[in-house]
Amino acid sequence: MTSAAINDLAAAIVRHLIDGRLQDGGSHRQPVYNPATGAVIREVLLADAATVDAAITSARAAFPAWRNTPPIKRARVMTRLLRLLEQHADRICALVTEEHGKTLADSMGELQRAIENVEYASQVTELLKGEHSRNVGAGIDAWCEHQALGVTAGITPFNFPAMVPLWMWPMAVACGNTFVLKPSERDPTSALFIAQLALEAGLPPGVLNVVHGDKEAVDVLLTDPRVAAVSFVGSTPVAQAIYATGCAHGKRVQALGGAKNHAVVMPDADIPNAVAALMGAAFGSCGERCMAVPLVVAVGNTAAEALRAGLAAEIARMRVGPGTAAGSDMGPLVTRAHFEKVRGYVDLGVAEGAELVVDGRGLQVPGHESGYFLGPCLFDHVRPEMRIYREEIFGPVLGIVRVDTLQQAMDLIDAHEYGNGTCIFTRDGEAARHFSDHIEIGMVGINVPLPVPVAYHSFGGWKRSLFGDLHAYGPDAVRFYTRRKAITQRWPSGGVREGAVFTFPSSR
Ligand code: NAD
Repeated sequence: MTSAAINDLAAAIVRHLIDGRLQDGGSHRQPVYNPATGAVIREVLLADAATVDAAITSARAAFPAWRNTPPIKRARVMTRLLRLLEQHADRICALVTEEHGKTLADSMGELQRAIENVEYASQVTELLKGEHSRNVGAGIDAWCEHQALGVTAGITPFNFPAMVPLWMWPMAVACGNTFVLKPSERDPTSALFIAQLALEAGLPPGVLNVVHGDKEAVDVLLTDPRVAAVSFVGSTPVAQAIYATGCAHGKRVQALGGAKNHAVVMPDADIPNAVAALMGAAFGSCGERCMAVPLVVAVGNTAAEALRAGLAAEIARMRVGPGTAAGSDMGPLVTRAHFEKVRGYVDLGVAEGAELVVDGRGLQVPGHESGYFLGPCLFDHVRPEMRIYREEIFGPVLGIVRVDTLQQAMDLIDAHEYGNGTCIFTRDGEAARHFSDHIEIGMVGINVPLPVPVAYHSFGGWKRSLFGDLHAYGPDAVRFYTRRKAITQRWPSGGVREGAVFTFPSSR
């Protein structure tokens, strides 16, 4: 598939990629919107069971040859892909911004982090070496190897449409598996485009298939006995259901869910630095990041007042507009339904008694009156019993919570149902160390607002932010997408011939 053909495709209907070919499948289709204008830009096909079955059949057929392809050749496909991703970066980012709404600079940041995952997958020969012990007994050698699982599958959310698929399938296929990807139906085109680039990079047909769709398609992936493992990233209720159903059908499942990340600001923190960091963490990508910071816990009223004043002043300087406009700091929300939901939470916060310091409702972006723009909102005096505190809003809404001590801040965070990320702003090393040692959260930043691990570490939350044992990408991806085989070998010769032995074998 050439890039020109991909351009044509992106202009009309988003089809499935099965067996290396774009295919129709399913009787339903759904509009894909440009959230900056509210216009329908293309339609995406929604797969039915037969379409997903065809993708699994293709992946199953491709598995034996791909599994036996030397890892270095699989790795070379990743190296070629990463060059193609760099070469086509502008096109990919344009697609992400067009369908998701985030600014072009933010799309570029997403793609850069995505490419780093492909780069890690290109080093798979090192990662698959396994362990070897010679002479564990007389003339006996033992080793462990990582073997591919077979057909694996991934289901991804709308908010990082290019990156999250690349958390999954490059490592899965580099490890020798084949893959069926089900991207978000809200912004499906960049994932499909990248899959086509993978074919161009030399990935054999059937090794990576892309089916678009909703629950109907996902249910087939979760129940078909030919699928060995499922990776999921999305909201917590769906993650929990995916984990339960996938496990009940004997699959290995990792299901990453939602979040409500708290930043703690200590009285000794560098407040202007914390304010600057929080602005990006709360409002970057319109708050639609699972590592976004929608809550800041100020320790002491002096810190709270300084934060409130600093954040309000910075918000007044923010530019909200289409992601394609050079000056925009923040684009629109992803869909009208999500816009209504987030605006509803702002209404709710007022009704619950939080103080709305900055009200982003009613924002108009000239020339984009039908876009899903909500201005940044700042609440103060948010309390833990409020729904705007407890629930994931996933929009540009930041709440200040006031406490008196670090321990109170930590108790709040530990009591929250989500455990994805958190951060602390302080100059006190002892406090920071205590915080990172004891907090019940999977990813912790110390004066770092978005502690998203780099591609060679793994990503995952605790509590109801992750169902399963292994985190996403990085070293955990090798563990997730392979199973260990332990082999013990002896070649009887001269000195080591023995008769029957009835005791448990040991090296004595
Ligand atoms: P979502 O749960 O609505 O959808 C995620 C995927 O699941 C999509 O592909 C969707 O088609 C599919 N899906 C939706 N409902 C389903 C159902 N009932 N059965 C089977 N499949 C279903 O999530 P979203 O709105 O696309 O993404 C935002 C959510 O993802 C937020 O909660 C965010 O915190 C979370 N997220 C988490 C991480 C993380 O690493 N923990 C990363 C990114 C996003």
